[in-house]
Amino acid sequence: MKNNFDINTIVRENVKVLKPYSSARDEFEDFDSADMIFLDANENPFENGVNRYPDPQQMSVKAILAKQKNVKLNQILLGNGSDEVLDLLFRAFCEPKTDNVITLPPTYGMYGVLANINAVENKEVLLSDDFQPQIEKIIEAVDENTKIIFLCSPNNPTGNSFSDESVVYLLKNFSGLVVIDEAYIDFSKKESWINELDEYPNLVITQTLSKAYGLAGIRLGICYATAEVISVLNKIKPPYNVNELSQKRALERLADSNKINTEIASIIRQREELLKVLLNVNFVEKIYPTEANFILVKVDDANKRYAELIAKGIVIRNRTTQPLCGNCLRLTVGTELENRKLMEVLKQL
Ligand SMILES: *Cc1c(COP(=O)(O)O)cnc(C)c1O
Repeated sequence: MKNNFDINTIVRENVKVLKPYSSARDEFEDFDSADMIFLDANENPFENGVNRYPDPQQMSVKAILAKQKNVKLNQILLGNGSDEVLDLLFRAFCEPKTDNVITLPPTYGMYGVLANINAVENKEVLLSDDFQPQIEKIIEAVDENTKIIFLCSPNNPTGNSFSDESVVYLLKNFSGLVVIDEAYIDFSKKESWINELDEYPNLVITQTLSKAYGLAGIRLGICYATAEVISVLNKIKPPYNVNELSQKRALERLADSNKINTEIASIIRQREELLKVLLNVNFVEKIYPTEANFILVKVDDANKRYAELIAKGIVIRNRTTQPLCGNCLRLTVGTELENRKLMEVLKQL
């Protein structure tokens, strides 16, 4: 198979002909201009900080991201968490009851859930035993209705990154979109695939402020792709999908890269400490290599150990029902104090 990616052949017909909703803020964009009187959006005129609709294109947030990631403004779309961004990808490119996507379990559960919600078939091609994509099997699973392949790298819940060779092979040989979910990229030594955006017209990258950036509560997800893909997503996104408070908090946080980097460095240090201690926990049978802010471990009896930890006041994630993850637990790296408590408890069990 050879890649003949053409965005016009993968956009849904109804999306192609759609005339997007035009909000008051779309029609007169310059709403920061202090000397104008705004009587266009039926807002309450009494100022309280959030009485006006937010910027539908979140230009201030995009400007700082564009600078930090070295991409153009029109290569960015923001969403109410990456979950919304992923949902938009389904709704823009996958025809319900006709099209399909490929996901690689064990991986992030939302791809499969969103496929179900959108009535899109989810073809699952298991990762190999060392949690890498099985590229031949993936290409075999592709048919003329396959629109998206979801790669999660570093992968949740396994923690590893996918090899560059596999990713490049799929980008070059698949004529639909290759979405790389980089929710954990800031904890990895690997470079983001953002740097390759100009190489591959079918490359889509999602990131989030929910993990390394410490803003899970504001729900801000990011999509980086070609201007063509972004403009399709822009057509169908809800007009005010990122609220004013979230935009404000994102701006403050993005401006403080020193603090973010210090926190990431601390989490990585703590992760390495945890890995060392786990070697000496007698019921831990395998510790998987990780490039994320969590560690996947295989234990003697995941259900039992999970329950024991809950009883001691520590909540982790039991992944034992996931394919290739029998008796596996996923531990998020916490603060130094939290990790010390976790280790004490693990040694006591
Ligand atoms: C946590 C996580 C996300 C984040 O989703 P948000 O909706 O942005 O909070 C995305 N992808 C993966 C693989 C995750 O683990």
